[in-house]
Parts: sequence; structure tokens; C-alpha cells
Amino acid sequence: MSESSQSAPRLIRPLARGRIVAATHNPGKLRELDDLMRPLGFEPVSAQSLGVAEPEETGDTFVANAELKALASARATGLVALADDSGLAVDELAGAPGIFSARWAGPTRNFAEAMQKVEDALNAAMVDRDRPVSRGAEFVSVLCLAWPDGATQSFEGRIRGELIWPPRGDRGFGYDPMFVADGETETFGEMDPARKHAMSHRARAFAQLVAALE
Ligand code: IMP
Repeated sequence: MSESSQSAPRLIRPLARGRIVAATHNPGKLRELDDLMRPLGFEPVSAQSLGVAEPEETGDTFVANAELKALASARATGLVALADDSGLAVDELAGAPGIFSARWAGPTRNFAEAMQKVEDALNAAMVDRDRPVSRGAEFVSVLCLAWPDGATQSFEGRIRGELIWPPRGDRGFGYDPMFVADGETETFGEMDPARKHAMSHRARAFAQLVAALE
């Protein structure tokens, strides 16, 4: 079962405080999930430390990929699991790189190169369309809870902004240095991380999850 919750969500299954599997093999994401869940009385344990193999991200949406990661961990461990899938969706590129955001950085996870690819694609779009193209984009995050019986519930957060060039700042990660959120002047790469974390797509998805818990 799958349910996407945008407003006044309620959890579809009980969720006891205590151990929860953080369905990620990415240390940065594990830290973020830990920071978010621990104050609420959860003890995140990484899927990797429980010997869960990392599933291939074969879904074609953020929700599908978050679900398959969360489900793999929940089924393998018999515990509730929480997964995150996120990325940058560029308006004029039909939502690319989207679910392929990490892959655009190649096997060495080179985000200077990934940002250059986005900039090149925007410039190519401008030539093709023979008009100024919008530089609008959004970061998207889907958090998915999965129960061992196969139930899943996803929570989505987005933040809109503009892509700038050249990139600025080295405080964030991924595409942060080229993203300026609407109403802001600094890129996510320049911004105080606490400020970014208060407004980010992941914070917004998490706020939905917390609302469902309460
Ligand atoms: P995932 O592991 O498939 O969810 O990959 C997410 C990718 O999206 C990351 O590797 C980043 O490239 C990008 N991304 C997601 N969230 C952010 C963010 O907050 N800032 C910058 N890049 C992000």
C-alpha cells in the first residue's frame, strides 16, 4: 500500500519510538536522518550496519525510489525503515536531472562536473529555443516510511529557486552552490547550514512526517 501525504497526513500504521532503520548507505544522509529522528525519540540504525544490501534505484519517480529503498530495509530487518530520495528538478530540462541527480555527478561524485552539465544543458536549451530560458528549478525530497508488512507512506517536500552561474560557496553539497532559493540572495552553498536545513526540501518533507506522528 502506498499513500502520499500533502496536507494533514496521518500515519497509516502505528510507529513505536525506539529503533528505526535508516535505509541509506550514505553517511551524510544517515547523519541528517539521525539529527531529525533522535529528538523525536527514535534510534536510527543504518541499513548497512544491519547487513542490508543496497537495492538498485530502478524506480522512475522519487517516491518509487524512496519506497523501494525503505521496503528493502523493512523486509530484511523486520523493523520500520525510513528512506530518502531527493534531487534537483530543472524547469526547462523537463525535470532533469531529477532522480538521476546523483548519477549526473558520475562514479566519482564530481558535482562541479554535474553543475557544469546542468549549465550546459540550459545554454543548449536557450540556443534550441531561440529565447531566454527560465532558470527556475526546485529541490525535491521524498521521505518514505516502510513497515515490515509492506505498507509504505511517503512525505514530499520541495523548495523552489533559481540556478545561478558561476556556482558560489562551499558549505553545502551536491548542487547547492548553484541554487538560490526564492526570496534569498545567498546560494545554499553560501548559506549558514542551519538556515538551509530550516527551509530545505528535506525539512519540508520531514515536517510532513512529524505532523503525521503527532
Ligand atoms: P539520492 O541518493 O538518489 O537521493 O541522490 C540525491 C542527489 O540529489 C544528491 O546526490 C545530490 O546530488 C542531489 N541533492 C539532493 N538534495 C540536495 C541538497 O540539499 N543540496 C544539493 N544537492 C542535493
